[in-house]
Amino acid sequence: MRKTENQLLVIFGASGDLTARKLVPALYKLYKDKHLPEHFAVLGVARSFMTDEEFRKRVALESKYLDDSEEFIATFSEKLFYEDLHKKYDVDYRELNERIQDLNTTYQCDNNIIFYLSTPPSLFEAIAKNLTAKGLNDERLGWKRLIVEKPFGYSLETAKSLNDGLHRYFKESQIYRIDHYLGKETVQNILVTRFANSIFEPLWNRDYIHHVEITNAESGGVESRGGYYDKSGALRDMFQSHLLQLVALIVMEPPLSANPEEIRNEKMKALKSLRLMTDPKVLEENTIRGQYLASEIEGEKVKGYREEVDVDPDSTTETYAAVKFYVDNWRWADVPFYVRTAKRMPTKVTEVVIHFKSPHHQIFKNSDMNKDNKLIIRIQPDEGILVKFGVKVPGQGFAVERGNLDFYYESLGDESHIMEAYERLLLDAMQGDATLYARADEVEAAWRFTDPILDHWKKGDAKIYGYSAGVWGPQHADELIEGKSMWRNPCENLADDAGYCVIE
Ligand code: NDP
Repeated sequence: MRKTENQLLVIFGASGDLTARKLVPALYKLYKDKHLPEHFAVLGVARSFMTDEEFRKRVALESKYLDDSEEFIATFSEKLFYEDLHKKYDVDYRELNERIQDLNTTYQCDNNIIFYLSTPPSLFEAIAKNLTAKGLNDERLGWKRLIVEKPFGYSLETAKSLNDGLHRYFKESQIYRIDHYLGKETVQNILVTRFANSIFEPLWNRDYIHHVEITNAESGGVESRGGYYDKSGALRDMFQSHLLQLVALIVMEPPLSANPEEIRNEKMKALKSLRLMTDPKVLEENTIRGQYLASEIEGEKVKGYREEVDVDPDSTTETYAAVKFYVDNWRWADVPFYVRTAKRMPTKVTEVVIHFKSPHHQIFKNSDMNKDNKLIIRIQPDEGILVKFGVKVPGQGFAVERGNLDFYYESLGDESHIMEAYERLLLDAMQGDATLYARADEVEAAWRFTDPILDHWKKGDAKIYGYSAGVWGPQHADELIEGKSMWRNPCENLADDAGYCVIE
């Protein structure tokens, strides 16, 4: 296990929601579990004025650690400080630098500093520039790391410009682009399932796999995020980042070792091998977008997307996106991948389904594709892995039914030992492990694949289908899947996909 060296964590945008709801609770958990170094301090930075005490109260109120003993919380709070930037982020950081140097000396942080940029991305470059002007990117006396939040770009062009802007001041090896999906245990376990077992990898190719399906469904609508979402949409919000990262883990070749660069090199190769779709006809046939309509779920009326707060009443932003694509390499030639993400689905679930081919010679009269072998990797909820395989129905003859072989994470014992994504990612960055952070070239490769779809949809003649809130998206999405197979419409429980599940 890597060592966590003494360090200072500086959070920009510390008056925001993410700091109070995710970052400080994650730090507190790391503190409780004794993962923080002996000498450690946190400095929150933003434009709003607050004293240290007000900052401590604010994050404590929002955080979920109020149940713990007051004394314990007080000890942790003593590590939290706050510095306001008066009016804006693009100012001389003289006072900020003085505060950083003061905390570094008082708390013996050994000049090791992480700058966590939890602000709108439009401020990233200005912050990096002003830190550099004060020599705060200089690693001669101690390392300096920059964590940046998503969204990383709005298109390939904007992502490149963001990368260029950051690279002017920080080296790529200092930059950690967060994708909280990669912090999930179940996502990391894809690597272990594939590369720590000998039973899956020999089958992990075009000879045995019929198709791959990834579903990311949210049961809720856009809620209070209408303004943000209307400019983003399902493809930018989920597909380009989280879901293509999942695809990369499924598609990649075995890395030479578990070294971060080896893993990221293989992920990059995987993303580069996704077949770009540029022909409008191909795009029309292989992508489906939709928007949820006003509906009733269990007797309760829910708004349509265009009626949501801060959403344009004529909006064509997609709340449903399904994409069929191919991977142009030796392992995956001709294997279709189907990836969908949406809001207002019947349940909240994310999973990967590997659909295996039917046996080459079928001696039992059971050619139903949907009864073929499947490996289901459940990312959330009811985290686990399920293998579906044929079993003989008791009695005369050879009727075949599906049996389940399942593994559930909760069977590993105390769930409190499973780190939250932000805990894991923060600790990794503190230890200088970038395995679970996206590299510049990976992010750009993901945008290179996504951009033509977005451009096609922007043209306006691409269809946008309505779907009632609480169903599995527009009917046309069923036609995307070839042959006799169909989407697995999952339920909250991993093993249960029969019919419709209960709507949350
Ligand atoms: P907030 O909108 O709460 O903003 C964070 C801080 O940035 C604010 O406290 C504010 O501080 C400053 N800020 C906001 N807008 C502007 C602006 N236009 N100009 C200058 N400063 C501004 O965001 P969150 O805390 O929710 O998120 C922070 C980052 O993390 C964002 O990039 C977001 O996309 C990303 N993110 C957030 C998630 C979440 O769950 N909240 C999930 C995934 C990513 P002040 O005005 O005091 O300077």
